[in-house]
Amino acid sequence: MKRFYSSIMLLAALLLSIPVMAQTQKKPVIGISCSIDGTTVEVGMTYVVSVRKAGGIPFIIPITTSDKEIDEYLDRIDGLLMTGGEDVSPLLFGQEPSPFLGTVVPERDTYDLALIRKAVLKGIPVLGICRGIQCLNIAMGGDLIQDIPSEVKDAIQHRQTGPRSYGSHTIMIEKGSLMEKLLGSGEVAVNSFHHQACGKIAPGFKVTAKSSDGIVEAIESPDGKFYGVQFHPEGFVYAGKKEFLPIFQHLVKLASEYSAHK
Ligand code: MN
Repeated sequence: MKRFYSSIMLLAALLLSIPVMAQTQKKPVIGISCSIDGTTVEVGMTYVVSVRKAGGIPFIIPITTSDKEIDEYLDRIDGLLMTGGEDVSPLLFGQEPSPFLGTVVPERDTYDLALIRKAVLKGIPVLGICRGIQCLNIAMGGDLIQDIPSEVKDAIQHRQTGPRSYGSHTIMIEKGSLMEKLLGSGEVAVNSFHHQACGKIAPGFKVTAKSSDGIVEAIESPDGKFYGVQFHPEGFVYAGKKEFLPIFQHLVKLASEYSAHK
């Protein structure tokens, strides 16, 4: 019966050349930055599933260094999720490479920074995760610590070996911040898969969570429209830990607002 019904609808749409189905409230489209491995573009399903669970439509943005193409993609999304990945070239924030710098991917650096700068100019909300928070900070004028173990005295372990859904160190969340609204106040245990971190913070942004050794674990703009975390909430959400879902729900809510006014 259902099949017959949809055939009738299709035929009606064809003959009348008008959309027959009632328009429902569209879910906002969340653009997700990807990485590149040889000739393959890649995005972890953890990011895709987290966006879905938060009520958004995940839309993977293939790597390009063309400004024009980036504009075309941004015209089609309502929110931007910048994902984790390789180290960022220190030349992009005025430093020479540390001997402990890891792999850099120049093409991805160009793509990530262009996506963020253009999204901010258009007013598209941005959530940066891991490399994403670092790129957000650089794009807006901040810099990075290139290698925590060799640059930060008495640093704790930020490259855990446990599963992605396991919180290996605590962070202290700033009172009155967006991060407090999303995760609650005080100490929260988070996962940690990084050896770089935000250094000097971009003008206008504030640090809203730190680990016990002073490493920046979250930043946000005053209106909370552009924000980032150094840990991986998608690792928790994917594993069914709902307490980290508000980080994605906030992006989807902002994206709905952006979509309604664009
Ligand atoms: Mn960490």
